[in-house]
Amino acid sequence: MSNFIVGLTGGIGSGKTTVTNIFAALGIDIIDADIIARDVVAKGSPALTMIEAHFGSDIIQGDGQLNRAMLREKIFANEVDKHWLNALLHPLIRKQIVTQAQVSLSPYCIIVAPLLIENNLTALVDRVLVVDVKETTQISRTIARDNNSAKQVKAIIKSQVSRKVRQEHADDLLNNDDCLIEDLESAVAQLHQAYLAYAAKKN
Ligand code: ATP
Repeated sequence: MSNFIVGLTGGIGSGKTTVTNIFAALGIDIIDADIIARDVVAKGSPALTMIEAHFGSDIIQGDGQLNRAMLREKIFANEVDKHWLNALLHPLIRKQIVTQAQVSLSPYCIIVAPLLIENNLTALVDRVLVVDVKETTQISRTIARDNNSAKQVKAIIKSQVSRKVRQEHADDLLNNDDCLIEDLESAVAQLHQAYLAYAAKKN
C-alpha cells in the first residue's frame, strides 16, 4: 500500500498527462480521477440506475451507456440537479480513489485530477503538485492537440479555478511553459526523489 499520496493537478492543456507519464515511467502508480469518474457510472452500475431513475430513461443510450452529453446539458441548465449528481458521485469517486491508493504497491502514488481543488480532493492527499502554465500556453497547446477554438478553450479555463488559486494550493509547482520534455523529465526526477524521501519518512 502507498501511504503517501501526491495530488497532481493543473488547468486544461497544462501538461498533466505529459507529467504523469514521466512519473509512471519511474514506476509510480497513477490513479486517474477522470477514469474513476467514468467507471462509477459504467453500464449496469448502481449509480447509473439512480441517474436513470432521476433523469428518465432517455439519459441511457441504446447501448446501455450513459449519454454524457445529455447529462452535461441537464446539469448545466439546473443547479439542483447538478448538486444531486455531485452528491451521488463524489463519495463514490472518493471511495474508489482511496481503494486504489490502498492497493498501490509503489513507494508513493499519484492521483491525477483536473478538478482536484474544485472537488476538494486535496483532503485525500499528502502533497499537491500543480503543473503551472500561462493561459496563452494552455490555449495554444489545447488548440494544437484537440482542434478546439480559442473561444472553447477560454470557456473551459473560466469554468476551472484560476491559476492564482491553483498556485496557492500548491506544495510544489512545476512550470511547463517554455520547457523542453527533457527539462520536464529532470524536474520530475527531482520531485520523485523528494517524494520518495517524504514517503519513507511517513512509513
Ligand atoms: P487536459 O486537461 O486537457 O487533459 P493535460 O493537462 O493532460 O490536458 P497534456 O495533454 O499533457 O495536458 O498537454 C497538452 C498538450 O501540450 C499535449 O499535446 C502535449 O503533448 C503538449 N505539451 C505538454 N507539455 C509540453 C511541453 N513542455 N512542450 C511542448 N508541448 C507540450
